[in-house]
Amino acid sequence: MARTLSDPARTAGVGMTSARTRARMVARLRSKGIRDERVLAAMAVVPRHLFVDSALESRAYEDSALPIGFSQTISQPFVVARMIELVLQERTPGKTLEVGTGCGYQAALLATICPEVYSIERIKALHERARRNLLALRLANLRLVHGDGYAGLEQAAPFHSIIVAAAAPHLPQALARQLAPDGRMILPLAQPAGGQRLLLVERRGRAYQESELDPVHFVPMEAGKA
Ligand code: SAH
Repeated sequence: MARTLSDPARTAGVGMTSARTRARMVARLRSKGIRDERVLAAMAVVPRHLFVDSALESRAYEDSALPIGFSQTISQPFVVARMIELVLQERTPGKTLEVGTGCGYQAALLATICPEVYSIERIKALHERARRNLLALRLANLRLVHGDGYAGLEQAAPFHSIIVAAAAPHLPQALARQLAPDGRMILPLAQPAGGQRLLLVERRGRAYQESELDPVHFVPMEAGKA
């Protein structure tokens, strides 16, 4: 059998997958402008190499997106850090929903920072892979769900924070409704003229304030389970 993810040696990493390599990634993120110490601390402890194919492990701490199968990618560390920083801002972390678990890396970061995290993935095989990837990290406050993120997760709402890791053509209404009255959501939005931008949605009671931020490049958000 191939090395499993609960193999302590693999979890600890060596050489290009060591804690020292991860510390260099964190230093680069800091120099590129990531300021939230909670995000930087989580990125220093979550072993990103556990979430990529073993053939790509030596590249796990480069600041790039990498393939995870099923035409999907693990997001670029800078973008992951930036989105978590934007959605948390200076607030105390609360109940959080992630849409697009993929391999589970961002879910692991969120569960390191937030008291309660739910993450939805539409592709069953990826949902199961994420579960395997996350086993060794024993994050008891993280729940993985196989479902369609367009519907959100009514049974666990409202959420203090929502992070979407796939680009939708419009703001999914169910997600907006499931935000707590003072909640924040960050998502990549496909632009009518092409390209994508991050959209920050801040709910204040019945009012939703939307701000368009950085250009990004995410896989598309697709409807229905697969
Ligand atoms: N969060 C991941 C990034 C995953 S890529 C990371 O840490 O790197 C985006 C993921 O969103 C893909 O796995 C894709 O299958 C998933 N996705 C796309 N549309 C979705 C939907 N409607 N509901 C749930 N997941 C969706």
